[in-house]
This record gives sequence, structure tokens and C-alpha cells, in this order.
Amino acid sequence: MNTLIKKPLLPTSTAGSLPKPSWLAQPETLWSPWKLQDHELVDGKHDALRVSLQEQQQAGVDIVSDGEQTRQHFVTTFIEHLDGVDFEQRKTVKIRDRYDASVPSVVGPVSRQKPVFVDDAKFLRQQTNKPIKWALPGPMTMVDTLYDDHYKSREQLAWEFAKILNQEAKELEAAGVDIIQFDEPAFNVFFDEVNAWGIACLERAIEGLKCETAVHICYGYGIKANTDWKKTLGSQWRQYEEVFPKLQQSNIDIISLECQNSRVPIELLELIRGKKVMVGAIDVATDTIETPEEVAETLRQALKYVDADKLYPSTNCGMAPLAREVARGKLNALSAGAAIVRQELLASKQ
Ligand SMILES: [Zn+2]
Repeated sequence: MNTLIKKPLLPTSTAGSLPKPSWLAQPETLWSPWKLQDHELVDGKHDALRVSLQEQQQAGVDIVSDGEQTRQHFVTTFIEHLDGVDFEQRKTVKIRDRYDASVPSVVGPVSRQKPVFVDDAKFLRQQTNKPIKWALPGPMTMVDTLYDDHYKSREQLAWEFAKILNQEAKELEAAGVDIIQFDEPAFNVFFDEVNAWGIACLERAIEGLKCETAVHICYGYGIKANTDWKKTLGSQWRQYEEVFPKLQQSNIDIISLECQNSRVPIELLELIRGKKVMVGAIDVATDTIETPEEVAETLRQALKYVDADKLYPSTNCGMAPLAREVARGKLNALSAGAAIVRQELLASKQ
């Protein structure tokens, strides 16, 4: 891996998904159906991945990703590849205690017969020398997106998923992925379970990995169910306070958080001092593009609690539901804002 470009100070990245081209899937839609089939779909996904990478690189993003161009949804696409889950047998459940969704059922022991994203990761690795980050769903969020008719225990099912995720993560690492990120929006909701077994399951999922590992905990995409929920959370969002102490003690290297335009008190970052932090400096729930100065100000606030060499400027969440030009504008703002603060840090050292 030593041929790779080293990460600069304040390396920028995105939390996850980026918009898909309109020839591949319906724009500005979650769970958007594919517009191509069979071999055309395989080629189309690869082409979209190339375009997404090119847009990230052109915007000056330092740690790049596939923009999740090959998946329909950040959780279900992974689960679709596993045995033990029946996608025909659907049940309506409340996801994250918030909104009803029709989800597949766990009908037997879950297992991974073959790699899910490893070929896509190899393809991305071939296209760039920059550090690459790959997102996987976290065990608790997977459990929360299913109806379990087999284990009848959220903890036991999460544990089984953690073992499967560890198999996938090890192969992603071997494919040249530099950072493996687990998306755990459920960590912002089920605090008792997070502390009882959620973080332990995550540590099982990263067991034996030598690459960097991250957990992404956000307030969700800018969809109505989430924005309505946020309105009920009051003037201070203190959810992170419930899980940070145990995360600070965990083996996870990086914690990815929502900060921009959120009501998260920035001083909560003190609870994870010593960890690397991906600070969300781009709001994904609005079409308004941040100015570089707004991004810079969020980063300056975070620097009071995060050492400069541990701060990774990022987005609050994925940008799949946004228009492409909006997402491009936000990537440019992220880079420009990070550049301002990088300059300030380097100037203050001289
Ligand atoms: Zn998110």
C-alpha cells in the first residue's frame, strides 16, 4: 500500500452515498429501482462508480469511495446477498422506532456464501491511488431493518451479522480498502442495546483488521420521516452522549458524526477525545450549499475537542437523495472549507 498517496492534514471524505446518474436509477429517490438490466446493469454500475469517483477527485476529496453506486440501499443490498433471509416473505416493522417499512424476514440461520462488495472494491482500487473508504451496514442497523422469525433475539442476530461482516471486511481489506466504515444510525436510538451489545458486536465485526475502522452515527438522510423526528428532539440533541463513553473505550478508530446545522452540542466531542473524528460539516438535509467559511467554522469548533491530526472533515450523512449538482457543490464547499482551516493550522505552526 506504500504507493498510495498519504493522507494530508484534515483529509476530506463523504459519509457514504452520492447521487446516481439518471440513466442508472431514478434521481433524488431512496431505494430507487435500476433502469438497466443484466449485463447492461453490471456495466452501468461500473460506469457510474467511475463518474462518482471522478467527481470526488475533481472536488478535491482526499479519501474517496464508490459513492455506493452499485447498491440500491445501504442496508438491504448487503442483506440481499445473504442466506437465511427471505425477501418474498415481507413484514411491516417500525424502523428505528420511527417509520413503518416493509422488510424481508429472517427465516433460518444467516450466512454469507460469497463476497458481496469485494469485486466492486477491487474495481475502485484499480481506478485511483487515493485512500479509499468502504461502507458496510452495522450489525444493529441490519437487525433493525428486518423481521426476525428465526433467532427471535436482536442480540443473537446482531452477533451472527457481526461474524458475517467480519468475513466481508477482511476481504475488503485484502482488496486494498484503507478505511472500513460501519453505518449505525440505530446507535442514535437504542441506547441500552448499544451499550449492552451493540458496540461489542461492532468490535466483533472489526476483529483482526489492520486497516482503519469507522462507525458512522447520524440523524439520517434528509427524508421526511427523519426531519419530522428531528423536530421532536428539542433544542439540544444529546443522543451521542449516551453512547460516546463506551465508544471512546472501544477498538473503533474513527467516529463519524453529524455536526453541520444540527443541534448536537459540539462539546459532546469531549467524550470521545483521543479518537479520530469524521466531523459532518455538510448538511445533507438541505439543497442550500454551504459556503467554505461555514464549513471552516464548523471545523474550527470541532478543533476545540479533536486534535488536528485526528480531524477528518466529512458530510453529515450520505447524499444519495440530493440532486447531482447540489452534491457536487457541497463536495467543493467541503474541500474549500477544509483548505481554509488547513492553512490556518499550518500558519499557526510557523
Ligand atoms: Zn448517515
